[in-house]
Amino acid sequence: DLQKSFTGRLAVENEMRHALDNNEFEIYYQPQVSLQDQRIRGMEALIRWNHPTRGIVPPNEFIPIAEESGLITPISEWVLGAACRQAKLWRASDLPPVTMAVNLSARQIEHPHFIEKFTHCLHESGIQGQGLEIEITESTLMRDMDGSIEKLRRLADMGVEIAIDDFGTGYSSLSYLKKLPIHSLKIDRSFIHDLTGHMNNGATLVAGIAAMAKGLNLNVVAEGVETRAQLDYIKTLGCDAYQGFLFSRPVGVEKATELLARQPH
Ligand code: C2E
Ligand code: MG
Ligand code: MG
Repeated sequence: DLQKSFTGRLAVENEMRHALDNNEFEIYYQPQVSLQDQRIRGMEALIRWNHPTRGIVPPNEFIPIAEESGLITPISEWVLGAACRQAKLWRASDLPPVTMAVNLSARQIEHPHFIEKFTHCLHESGIQGQGLEIEITESTLMRDMDGSIEKLRRLADMGVEIAIDDFGTGYSSLSYLKKLPIHSLKIDRSFIHDLTGHMNNGATLVAGIAAMAKGLNLNVVAEGVETRAQLDYIKTLGCDAYQGFLFSRPVGVEKATELLARQPH
């Protein structure tokens, strides 16, 4: 992978620095589909690096390096800005309204000026917090629970929705669920994958998470739905929405716009 094949971390960092200046980053969008009416309820912004010689580099190969080097800050700001501008374009067109979901990294939230930067980004792109959703993993939250609670409340006050990403993998106390203004839980795709395996513990866990979420008035989103069988299963388990290759892989902005336009509205 990238981290090993490059001559050193410094080289990767340098390349990433240029990548921002050279517009090598691009956002792909993956639809989130409501199980109630099969309509697209949101689009998740997922970063890609169009490397001049390596082709498309997936985020798992460079986000960790960006986190360590601090480059995550300018990169994340670029993602948020680009996603907000796209949300504005989609809203201004004759397409059905969808939520724009953006992944936030730990470093980004821990930045002392996170709220100011976030607000600035919304102003610049001319959108409000409504219709925007941020995705945070449990482990990110746990790094600084008190600090996170304070900051996420500020975002929620602006109308931003908050989703817990990769839910179920963080092995953490669940008490944060009642302390935070959370809107959705995204069940990690490993649980969805297990649904159709020969052990049926996956189904018990998904049903349990869904029941708990219902009690707490949270949306449940299943990640990584790849097969019709998984889709049929999650319907019976109480999920509200899903994302996965079955409906669509993450796609470029043109394809994403087509998917939105293809819906009855
Ligand atoms: P995530 O937020 O949990 O995003 C879901 C990942 O699962 C995406 O991988 C998506 O392509 C993949 N996926 C979706 N449906 C399926 C499916 O049916 N089967 C399988 N096997 N995979 C599926 P991707 O795009 O490679 O992103 C990986 C992770 O990188 C993301 O996980 C997110 O944590 C992080 N990431 C992506 N973009 C950003 C970003 O702009 N900022 C930050 N901080 N992190 C990002
Ligand atoms: Mg996500
Ligand atoms: Mg996830």
